[in-house]
Amino acid sequence: MGDPGHLDLEHFGALLAAQRAEREAEAAALAASLSDVRAARSDGTADDEHDPEGSTLSSDWSRISGLLAALRSRIDAIERAGERIDAGTYGICLRRGERIPLDRLEALPAAELCIACAREAEVRR
Ligand SMILES: [Zn+2]
Repeated sequence: MGDPGHLDLEHFGALLAAQRAEREAEAAALAASLSDVRAARSDGTADDEHDPEGSTLSSDWSRISGLLAALRSRIDAIERAGERIDAGTYGICLRRGERIPLDRLEALPAAELCIACAREAEVRR
């Protein structure tokens, strides 16, 4: 009470839950298109080597798998943020332990780093 740095964990928990539901719906849709591609590739009409449609299917496959992998890592990040809420460490930069500004958390509830550390991590990559 009266702590200006107090985090409304319920609010961020709800944001995280909403984002998670959204990402999981997207992931489910992508997984469904992947199995469509898989079915199309294995029904014998598409030959990856010689059939132009086969190579389209291959590139669809890699594109969708890539999207799905990115989505899954975002879902993991959301899950880890939820664990930090439970552990009482939510909103604290994982690198140097400073508070992540509220507006950053509003925009990116699963943020693990403050803006400065995120920039540094970006540069190092
Ligand atoms: Zn930091």
